[in-house]
Amino acid sequence: MNLQPLRTGKETVSIPPSKIQSCLPKHDLKGHSVAIIGLGKSGISAARLALARGASVLAIDQNENLGPLEAFNGLINAQENITDFEKHGRLKTILGSFDNELLKEADTIVVSPGVPLESYGLLSLLQSGKRVMSELDFAAEVIPRRIKILAVTGTNGKSTVATFAGQMLDHLDIKIFVGGNLGVPLSEAAYQCLMSPLRPFQVAVVEVSSYQLEIPNKYFHPSVSMILNLTPDHLERHKTMRNYAMTKCRLLSNMNGHKIGILPLGNPCLNEAISEHKSEFNVAWIGGNPGVKIDMEAKVANFDLPIIRCASQIQLGEMKTIGSHNYHNAAVAALSVIGLDIGINAAAISSIIGKLRTPSHRMQIVHRDTQGITWVDDSKATNAEATYTGLVGLKGLKSVILLGGITKVRDVNGPNGFEQLVKPLNDHRGVITFGSSGMMIEKTLTANGLTVPCQRAQNLKDAVSMAKSVAQNGDAIVLSPGCASFDEFRNFEHRGKVFQELALLS
Ligand code: ADP
Repeated sequence: MNLQPLRTGKETVSIPPSKIQSCLPKHDLKGHSVAIIGLGKSGISAARLALARGASVLAIDQNENLGPLEAFNGLINAQENITDFEKHGRLKTILGSFDNELLKEADTIVVSPGVPLESYGLLSLLQSGKRVMSELDFAAEVIPRRIKILAVTGTNGKSTVATFAGQMLDHLDIKIFVGGNLGVPLSEAAYQCLMSPLRPFQVAVVEVSSYQLEIPNKYFHPSVSMILNLTPDHLERHKTMRNYAMTKCRLLSNMNGHKIGILPLGNPCLNEAISEHKSEFNVAWIGGNPGVKIDMEAKVANFDLPIIRCASQIQLGEMKTIGSHNYHNAAVAALSVIGLDIGINAAAISSIIGKLRTPSHRMQIVHRDTQGITWVDDSKATNAEATYTGLVGLKGLKSVILLGGITKVRDVNGPNGFEQLVKPLNDHRGVITFGSSGMMIEKTLTANGLTVPCQRAQNLKDAVSMAKSVAQNGDAIVLSPGCASFDEFRNFEHRGKVFQELALLS
């Protein structure tokens, strides 16, 4: 990390118009075999990209109920009435049990984020020098360097910040791709680059999860990278906070020259990991100089980024989103957009700040019912820290909070994370816990001094009916569960949708 005085004196320049012909290696993998492991959204996209690059593809997933990619209708070609996969005839799918020896024959192995390195003998293949890549890196290999990448990771708030950054760029007429861990996989962006003779977008805003960073990336070169924050999460996969922090820091690899790494000030675990991580970049601090300082009371963000001669501020007061943490998210998103050095300044961002909208299930106002109750869906708060931030941000709006689901793995001897919620919860109307961890949460809250009423429900539906009987005129009912959803729902989106349906019935 380069903490020395930053380079100054560079004029900001706009990216030139997109008239350049693509010089991408359309069939650079002709004659190669690519094994794709894990056939979720990322794996399917990577398979399509590999076929477009001319490779033959072995598509693998342990779930035998998936159905082979050859018959995958999601990518049907309307004119020929066959799928893109069938068309290539260079594809074989193996589902269920798999002989790992087959992987030795592949030239490249692309690993989907959901697949841990302990499976399929991947770790030893990687150590043996085999080309084993993350889906992210496989995609990045074909994204031209002239397209700037803005990469966002962190424990909580990634999607919101990536969405805000994307909206800022979009409102200011920059052609963008927004995706990665959020929505559309990066392989889809790479596929667009490969197929389009003109540059399809100028900036890729990429949300990156820790799973996508387990294999060191070689081709993923962001112009701006951000680690928004770091608190315990995903420890069932990373085992220790140290591993988790080291993995997140891989986002800063391949950064040098004028590239900017945005980091939170004062996170000892992250600082330690960064100090062990060999990388050179210009640091910009969240809460420090150079970087952005946010005055939450005055709703002002002050930027100081000498490397691009930026010293300016943005008024955040016009934002229409709920939760004060979203001022913070908008300020950090603005810092990252300014840091791209493509001619966007604070004044331009100020002009569109009122247009920012949070993604679904993140402090989303879904309904105001006839009793004057506001229904807020924060189903994406899947750990206690996210719920904490949401609660603190609800200042002044008395709420009944729904907490529950299934808690994530933590150090069994340490705190479970819900202790910290007691203080902000005591400013609210009451708490309803639900789901398989409901009892544990209730016990933790009462043992740590909860003074507002707390009731326990079996499931979300019962929790909603209880909340309705506790809420008073002008209150909010907020689903900010602090837990994963898998005990009752397919995922957090499913949980949020069910909550929204129940809200609309009120
Ligand atoms: P991620 O993509 O990292 O999971 P999201 O943007 O989807 O993050 O937000 C998840 C939840 O995290 C939100 O519902 C909110 O409660 C909380 N949150 C949002 N922004 C922040 C932040 N800057 N710091 C901590 N928690 C946040």
